[in-house]
Amino acid sequence: MIMDVKAIRDDFPILGRTVYGKPLVYLDNAATTQKPRCVVEAISEAYYSVNANVHRGVHFLSQQATQLHESSRETTRKFINARSTNEIVFTRGTTESINLVASVFAQSQLHQGDEVIVSVMEHHSNIVPWQLQAQHYGFVLKVIPMNDQGELRLDEYQRLFTPRTRLVAVVHVSNVLGTINPIQTIISIAHAHQVPVLVDGAQSVPHLPIDVQALDADFYAFSAHKMYGPTGVGVLYGKEKWLDVLPPYQGGGEMISHVSFKHTTFNELPFKFEAGTPDYIGTHALACAIDYLLHIGMDNIAASEHALAEYATQQLTDIEGLRIFGTSPQKGAVLSFQVGGIHHFDLGTLLDHMGIAVRTGHHCAEPLMRRLGIEGTVRASFAFYNTFSEVDALTDAIRRIVRMF
Ligand code: PMP
Repeated sequence: MIMDVKAIRDDFPILGRTVYGKPLVYLDNAATTQKPRCVVEAISEAYYSVNANVHRGVHFLSQQATQLHESSRETTRKFINARSTNEIVFTRGTTESINLVASVFAQSQLHQGDEVIVSVMEHHSNIVPWQLQAQHYGFVLKVIPMNDQGELRLDEYQRLFTPRTRLVAVVHVSNVLGTINPIQTIISIAHAHQVPVLVDGAQSVPHLPIDVQALDADFYAFSAHKMYGPTGVGVLYGKEKWLDVLPPYQGGGEMISHVSFKHTTFNELPFKFEAGTPDYIGTHALACAIDYLLHIGMDNIAASEHALAEYATQQLTDIEGLRIFGTSPQKGAVLSFQVGGIHHFDLGTLLDHMGIAVRTGHHCAEPLMRRLGIEGTVRASFAFYNTFSEVDALTDAIRRIVRMF
């Protein structure tokens, strides 16, 4: 299918706006994506017509809201090909999904001297939750290094395993380098050591077809707002065999079966991990975003973003003094770069004044910046609604800025 980008862009009203009198060129999709009309309208329609608290009500509206919320769980299950809706836990985002696992896994499985493997290219969201638990339970973090292209060193990874290794937590697609890690291989190596794997899927689920069963991931975390859905909603996929044995994360309504002052029993999966009123309108909007993505087709999305990224890489590489960080052939549509001696913040600010939204800084990956020997980069990250002429606008603007300097 050839994508009709013009028609797609019409679904995203914000893409038609101007900033500083210039047409907006939105290249900050790794931070958050824009929302199609159907997602925004689904939110107001749900509030207007089916708003009632879920799960607890006998009344018509509550049952309808519950049905909508639970059918969103099924839509999400199908989207990542989980075995059962028991394995789909709704959270507030990738960060909360990882904190959930770090907290309950540490509490029940990790002891003084145990080891958890992460990688040098992790987002802070997949480092700090482990550090917080490590301080309490006394386990240690070991770090998979990478080569200069921004690829994880699988030989070194294999050498990190010891009889004390309990979990591997690694990102699928780097939000800085764009590297698509060989996650299936990473998982099968861990499984050969009987070690489970948590995958940070924040930057993969919006861009690639994901099949958690084919990957054999034990946990897979992602955020709705990075996949054209609402803010404040996320997903934790967890294999039932793990979610069954792990203790609850937070206490409150919905996650219990019976409560007394002497003894409380917990609800079945997935509700055991969902304390309090869930964002049932948000989960409905997430399901609408998934339907929208499926309508375009994940393979089409991956192919069109790949073409954009290839073109952008080619165009940027032609600019004298421009250096791209992350040059693996296995790359998503994320480009981090520096230009000559221009500070990334200055470059980002000047681009902004030309209507081009990019991100600057360490991108919540300070250990990675340290590995690269830099303080920050400018990052352009693409979505299927971006165009080749927007890539041209970016490269023309950078050339103008270089001339100014
Ligand atoms: N992991 C990665 C790789 C990310 O890019 C991000 C968002 N920048 C996160 C985790 C955290 O996502 P959220 O803020 O939606 O929880």
